[in-house]
Amino acid sequence: MDSRFSWSTDYRHPTKWDQEFAPLSLPDMLAASVARRGDAPMLDFLGRQFSYAEVARGAARVARGLQQRGIGKGSRVGLFLPNVPHYVAAYYGALAAGATVVNFSPLYTVAELEAQVEDSGTDTLFTISAAALLPTALQVLDGSSLKQLVVGSVAGGLPAAKSMLYRLFKRSEVAALPTDPRIIRFSTLIDNDGKPDPVAIDAEQDIALIQYTGGTTGTPKGAKLTHQNLTANARQVNAIDPDHDAADRILGVLPFFHVFANTCVLNRTILNGGTITMLPRFDAKQALEAITRTKTTALPGVPTMYQALLDHPDLAKTDFSSLRICISGGAPMPGELREKFVAATGASLVEGYGLTESSGVVATNPYEGPVKPGTIGQPIPATHIRLLDKEDASKDAPDGEPGELAVKGPQVMQGYWNRPDADKDSFTDDGWLRTGDVAVVEAGGYIRIVDRLKDMIAVGGFKVYPSVIEAHLYEHPAVKEAIVLGVPDAYRGEAPKAFVTLEDGFNVSGEALAAWLNPQLGKHERVNAVEVRLNLPKTMIGKLDRKALRAEEKTSAKA
Ligand code: AMP
Repeated sequence: MDSRFSWSTDYRHPTKWDQEFAPLSLPDMLAASVARRGDAPMLDFLGRQFSYAEVARGAARVARGLQQRGIGKGSRVGLFLPNVPHYVAAYYGALAAGATVVNFSPLYTVAELEAQVEDSGTDTLFTISAAALLPTALQVLDGSSLKQLVVGSVAGGLPAAKSMLYRLFKRSEVAALPTDPRIIRFSTLIDNDGKPDPVAIDAEQDIALIQYTGGTTGTPKGAKLTHQNLTANARQVNAIDPDHDAADRILGVLPFFHVFANTCVLNRTILNGGTITMLPRFDAKQALEAITRTKTTALPGVPTMYQALLDHPDLAKTDFSSLRICISGGAPMPGELREKFVAATGASLVEGYGLTESSGVVATNPYEGPVKPGTIGQPIPATHIRLLDKEDASKDAPDGEPGELAVKGPQVMQGYWNRPDADKDSFTDDGWLRTGDVAVVEAGGYIRIVDRLKDMIAVGGFKVYPSVIEAHLYEHPAVKEAIVLGVPDAYRGEAPKAFVTLEDGFNVSGEALAAWLNPQLGKHERVNAVEVRLNLPKTMIGKLDRKALRAEEKTSAKA
């Protein structure tokens, strides 16, 4: 085995992976790549390429425009955007202005967006005039303490001339916007000399990103990630990929607002000077076409994306010869899917693991060297892991027993935004991040996730929380009690299933409840089934016992 991959299972001793990562801010990381790769393409968007220098100029104009409007250190700038060039300019621009970025899923409803805008104290929000984004953002502008809304557009096709990115940004003219001094067109924001006032960034102290996650409980909270957390994680992943290269062409189908894409697609490509082919959202046909057209070399994705590519009729005519590495994460990769994908494409596919609170990546199978299917591989450089006793997190798990995976490393968050209570539950007293995932460590330091302590359900790479679905169920007059669990699903990996009891005098079928429930839920939240029961397990003090039901279901699935 390659000696770089040997790893000591004793977390107390330095590993061969130990490596120092000097403090580095995201704007400094971008500047270094612009100096080396100014004319090289950073973004490929719908077939047009935008160079490092162009994107950096766009970001500098965003930074200046924000500073002119009072944004700087201590401000929070929200991004409510799909994968479009505006995202990259706004992200790096807000950071250069000294602000903290807050990422919002473009699928959020008004209520979800509003709650997180309020919680984070976001004062400026970026969006584009596409689909439901602008109407949602406008409603949030009315209902929250948001002070400014910046609106861009990608409508009207792409410009063909030089300085294309600037022209693309200028297209925000096409949006018909309400007259409101708080609404600023992207084109107006960037109408400046592109010379922001320099801001001193302390990479290890300054929060670059507030990244919302349900964590272990499901109540959304913002993980505070410093510049150093994010740049270290990009460098940690680089260290295990010796073949990474400035000529890499990464397919950017994972949504940038999620930490997996933020680190493994956006920041890491910018660190290396490679090219990101951006698709505004995942579409198997477009992704396959982009692989052939751009000679994609690396494809980070979640298991359901690989499944969708494999199932698509265009798979056979796709040229995979350039694809050197596929990185699967976010949810367990079914072994059979991995084998089929590798057989069909000839690409290597490695599974990794991480979470929002760790800036994206904790462990991965070696890119070169023996992959152990069904495991999440080994901790990446400078990352230490430990297995905690499942009943008492102040102790280690008994030798050889599964335990809660805990992590230390330069990528681990500083805690949650304004939530000291949640910090106490998420870190041990001596500073280990508790992941809520139960693992065993096998020979060679390969980690296998065997269970989950937290209530989250991993639907593809999307995280669904039972409490959200249960709250909907309780709105039905017939529902007395409800527990939602994750159950195995051939396509989605795992999917929510509801178990309910009914109020006296009601007689309604599980099918009818599912038909009522699912249209109210987000695509990933939809339940496979609703099972009506006469009773549900309870704890000694009479609370619904999710753990007992989960154990019951596991046993009946095995039988
Ligand atoms: P998020 O914060 O949305 O990135 O979700 C992180 C969670 O996703 C982890 O705590 C795991 O429960 C799950 N997860 C991520 N990658 C994997 C994987 N390869 N296998 C199993 N679970 C995973």
